[in-house]
Amino acid sequence: MSNLLEPRAFKVFQRKQLDRIPQIARLDREQQDAIRAVSAVLPFRVNNYVLEDLIDWDRVPDDPMFQLTFPQAGMLHDEDFATMLDLVRRDAPEAEIQAAARTIQFAMNPHPAGQKELNVPRLDGQLLQGMQHKYRQTVLFFPANGQTCHSYCTYCFRWAQFVGIDELKFLDREADHLVRYVAAHPEITDVLFTGGDPMVMSTKVLRRYVEPLLRSGLDHLKTIRFGTKAPAYWPYRFTQGPDSDDLIQLFEEIVAAGKHVALMAHYSHPVELETEVAQQAVRRIIDSGAVVRCQAPLIRHVNDDADTWARMWQTQVDLGAVPYYMFVERDTGARDYFEVPLAEAFDIYNRAYAQVSGVARTVRGPSMSATPGKVCVDGIAEVHGEKVFVLKFLQCRRTEWANRIFFAKFDPQAMWLDDLEPAFGESEFFYEGWMRELAEHRKSGLNDMTPDGLPSQGVVADV
Ligand SMILES: *Cc1c(COP(=O)(O)O)cnc(C)c1O
Repeated sequence: MSNLLEPRAFKVFQRKQLDRIPQIARLDREQQDAIRAVSAVLPFRVNNYVLEDLIDWDRVPDDPMFQLTFPQAGMLHDEDFATMLDLVRRDAPEAEIQAAARTIQFAMNPHPAGQKELNVPRLDGQLLQGMQHKYRQTVLFFPANGQTCHSYCTYCFRWAQFVGIDELKFLDREADHLVRYVAAHPEITDVLFTGGDPMVMSTKVLRRYVEPLLRSGLDHLKTIRFGTKAPAYWPYRFTQGPDSDDLIQLFEEIVAAGKHVALMAHYSHPVELETEVAQQAVRRIIDSGAVVRCQAPLIRHVNDDADTWARMWQTQVDLGAVPYYMFVERDTGARDYFEVPLAEAFDIYNRAYAQVSGVARTVRGPSMSATPGKVCVDGIAEVHGEKVFVLKFLQCRRTEWANRIFFAKFDPQAMWLDDLEPAFGESEFFYEGWMRELAEHRKSGLNDMTPDGLPSQGVVADV
């Protein structure tokens, strides 16, 4: 494919290089100090493409791409913000800043939805810290070299991976673990490489993880997915230079091996799809035989209106990509700043959905990735005089609950599944007893995943 665009060198700026960001001079002292204070706690990383082509500096601080990539005062609780601001203003030693930041980080629910306790699988009795296996068909793999991104999102739910809380990290260097685990689990059809962003790896390194999956006669493995923000934050990854050619070729090789390749592309705002290079990247990925499936959370200050979502889904379809999930902002990190109540999220989703034709209605949401599963707000209804949320499991730890509907009392303020109470006088949701059983089971060390995740069936032998 001919490269019509000017080649571009990747330049990245983090907290220590804030002063070197040319556009930063447009911000007043107050805003700059706020960024300095908050970026000591939450990850900050932005590249030249985002700065030059995605952020509209005339609209800062309200610009959605600025909100998406630059830390803001409101992202910390007032007293934490005051503490950090004081430290950066008086140029406190780095160790003091880091110590204060740690305390705040640990209070921000770094690993939501029981990821550490419930999702980490075992092989030969050994915990595989770089993997998560929550839903029957799909195992997540966190390659050690893919634990960063081309830019960071301020709302990142994996933010703990990036702030150097080492004991909280998910990662694995051993492609062999992945192959052996998949081989031992015939129920797995999908491997999802995630991070961070696996697309920050060179193709050569990526091949070390992917090729063994193709060579090992794993017929039950049907789909290889890559969770990535690169098409939005650094589309040149797919369009420029020999490594991008090699990446596209790798996709072609996976397709030729009879597997489906899915780029699970994280697009938060339509501007990320509207530059020439972003569109060229999508075209090139699709030409390889891969499919681009698009997902993002609904985020206050970034994409909290229906027209933005409708425009985004339509642009995705225009480019041949598939709208996939609208998520609810997770209960971690700076969630107070970004959260949108479930009732409002449902309203935004509905009004966006109404604007697009059926080809864009492949999207599902608003969906919470909660401890028992992915729970979608499927409706707000009145049943025998009681106003309720109609909820649905899109994914579930227990496979037989997929697509099952249940009901919660309507609550206009509720932000997350934990805030909801069962409707119709029930004392708990139908899945709660089983979740308690699972937690007990795992605590007792018998925490291998069974094919259906059923602790009552006992433990599948380690392989
Ligand atoms: C969302 C998610 C998946 C993938 O779910 P799909 O509905 O198949 O896209 C897998 N594992 C975890 C832990 C997830 O949160």
